[in-house]
Amino acid sequence: MVTKTIFEKSVKNRTGFSLANSKIKTDVKELIPDKLRRKKQPNLPEVSELDALRHYIEISAKNHFIEKGFYPLGSCTMKYNPQINEMVCTLPGFTHIHPMQPEASVQGALEIMYELQKDLANISGFSQVSLQPVAGAQGEFTGVNIIYNYHKSKSRDPKKIIMPDSSHGTNPATTTMHGFEVVEIKSTDEGKVDLEALKEVVDDDVAGFMLTNPNTLGVFETQVKEIADIIHSVGGLMYMDGANMNAILGYIRPGDMGFDITHFNLHKTFSTPHGGGGPGNGGVGVTAELEEFLPSPIISKKEGKYYLDYSAENSIGKVHSFFGNFAVMVKAYMYIKMLGEKGLKRVAENAVINSNYVMNQIKEYFPVPFHDDIMHEFVASGKNYREYGIKTLDIAKRLLDYGVHAPTIYFPLIVKEALMIEPTETEGKETLDGFIEAMKIISKEAKENPEELKKAPTKPPIARLDETEAIKNLDIKFDFNQEK
Ligand SMILES: *Cc1c(COP(=O)(O)O)cnc(C)c1O
Repeated sequence: MVTKTIFEKSVKNRTGFSLANSKIKTDVKELIPDKLRRKKQPNLPEVSELDALRHYIEISAKNHFIEKGFYPLGSCTMKYNPQINEMVCTLPGFTHIHPMQPEASVQGALEIMYELQKDLANISGFSQVSLQPVAGAQGEFTGVNIIYNYHKSKSRDPKKIIMPDSSHGTNPATTTMHGFEVVEIKSTDEGKVDLEALKEVVDDDVAGFMLTNPNTLGVFETQVKEIADIIHSVGGLMYMDGANMNAILGYIRPGDMGFDITHFNLHKTFSTPHGGGGPGNGGVGVTAELEEFLPSPIISKKEGKYYLDYSAENSIGKVHSFFGNFAVMVKAYMYIKMLGEKGLKRVAENAVINSNYVMNQIKEYFPVPFHDDIMHEFVASGKNYREYGIKTLDIAKRLLDYGVHAPTIYFPLIVKEALMIEPTETEGKETLDGFIEAMKIISKEAKENPEELKKAPTKPPIARLDETEAIKNLDIKFDFNQEK
């Protein structure tokens, strides 16, 4: 039992509100007014456990997911998430705790967060990490907010953030949301930041530079030091979008490259499941100079005890209720501890080898305009099939008929008819060969039987939809008696 005083103290610590003079109600009858309480039993369907299970297994089997088939959705890192992560994060010691519990009673949970902060700091070469943001995009927003507050602390008010035309949509979105002006610069023919174009736009009004490395073309940006020197010379900060960190784990660290801030996508790089919008974790790492701006609390340790540390005076505040998605942290912690330093390096090696293997096998059929320094993903083009009336969309849809999730299409914008392919590090050679074979067959079909290809997919439970119509008139009911 938590005594009232400990509870009050812990509420005050976390929220700044004092409950000292309030009466805490604990009886449900007192908490929920009579008029809101149910008067009769709800009319719930009566089904057996077996029937319920069959129902859910049947609908899940109609879906496509990583445990069912290959999922080369570029940028998203749809890799295998080890089952042991799920087992551990659902242990009662984790699921039966509450964020309002006194610190002394949740030392184990705090230790996991503390260790994860430390591991991520080591992996990225930064001095401290906040685990609070719950998505990559929220990590970006947090990072941009830190950039804003850093300049404010120096009595500066620069308005612009620069980024290349290959950047992920969330980069300009989060930057604009914060009120900065986005300055886009073009990439070179190799798909890298154009230093000359950068120099042309750099001035004292630049707050920072945002870069994904490897970038969304799968190309490794080799000139980060030069870019950082230019940006730092006008007082700006370097932000790395860390969504592609599986390509570099254990080999290089953003902190050593010249970046000041990065976000992690624990739900991509560190194998916590994602899709459908969450839950995720977009933790943010920063240099020692920027630590004071991180969201509060971070987890600290004093005299062998872990505690919620609210001491950072210039903290940007909270970006999420309580401490973020804790279960996601447990999974990422498991993954990092299980693989260790050597294992994390092998993640990067396999991610890069798999992607280069697939690229070299299919580039004859689907050219890859930016193919030097390719890392964990690459962007092929379906433009050769336009003359047969076939679009990248048709190619992607046809892959579903071969049991493969469609790659990301029409992104990045700088590749015509883009097919963005990320095999990930967890796929074996047989699966990759199967995918390569399917791509070759589709290439042949596009030339010999384009009309059929335009009807794809024909095998999944729902055939091709008019996507605009489907978004405008959402119909999520599925009639199980009307299968094709
Ligand atoms: C996925 C991704 C993001 C955004 O991360 P979310 O967790 O989906 O918000 C940002 N940048 C890149 C390059 C990504 O692949």
